[in-house]
Amino acid sequence: MNKGVLTADKDPMGAAIAEFHQTKKAGRLRVFSSQFEEDEIPVRQLFRTVDKMPPLERKALKLATGSVLDVGAGSGCHALALQEAGLDVCAIDVSPLSVQVMKERGVKDARLVNLFDETFVDSFDTILLLMNGSGIVGKIDNLPLFFKKMKQLLRPCGCILMDSSDLRYLFEEEDGSFLIDIAGDYYGEIDFQMQYKEVKGAVFDWLYIDFQTLSLYAAENGFVVELVAEGKHYDYLAKITLK
Ligand code: SAH
Repeated sequence: MNKGVLTADKDPMGAAIAEFHQTKKAGRLRVFSSQFEEDEIPVRQLFRTVDKMPPLERKALKLATGSVLDVGAGSGCHALALQEAGLDVCAIDVSPLSVQVMKERGVKDARLVNLFDETFVDSFDTILLLMNGSGIVGKIDNLPLFFKKMKQLLRPCGCILMDSSDLRYLFEEEDGSFLIDIAGDYYGEIDFQMQYKEVKGAVFDWLYIDFQTLSLYAAENGFVVELVAEGKHYDYLAKITLK
């Protein structure tokens, strides 16, 4: 598992975020995957204000209390909303260009650090992972390490608010049956690569996890998961607390 940060020449999402921040316009942030057709992330969406956020994200912001860690904070959209509501926010990201933009946008404590960096130690009441926040875990096998890190960072009564999606709909046949190879890798393990103009990033793993599988792993690692809300497309918001 990668515990480092990106360099600016391999930071396509950061390049898109920086350009949009400076010019209010951006080109195509292209997304490649060996499992899907080429796709795009609308860069403007990364700067969404609370009124443009999906209900699951707004719900997560409402549930956040005390000192908050925003993991993979991107342009800082959630961090800024919480800061404005008077909460203390630490926003971390592996993207140097995004962290620079967060600082310029007024995120008071924006740090260039990987969640899994062992030297990153602190404690929080709320840990936020949004926009398929489970993605950062990368692979199912990294879940024990993720929960170990959460134990180090979370105060005893604190909670983790994370959104994810169950990708099973991608394997659903018209008759309602599923074409999932149960001997293969977990169906929510996806590889991605991004490109913005000439800046191409490295391939990375991104985990989508269904609620039941998440609950199982959480229980094995000393956590309890509550289904806070479900979205329109197999997506959901989970609240994870220590057992
Ligand atoms: N939360 C933001 C951005 C989501 S994109 C939003 O909702 O708009 C995911 C972000 O996570 C990217 O900015 C990426 O650079 C960051 N990221 C990926 N792996 C990370 C890790 N291990 N530690 C910290 N940040 C990470």
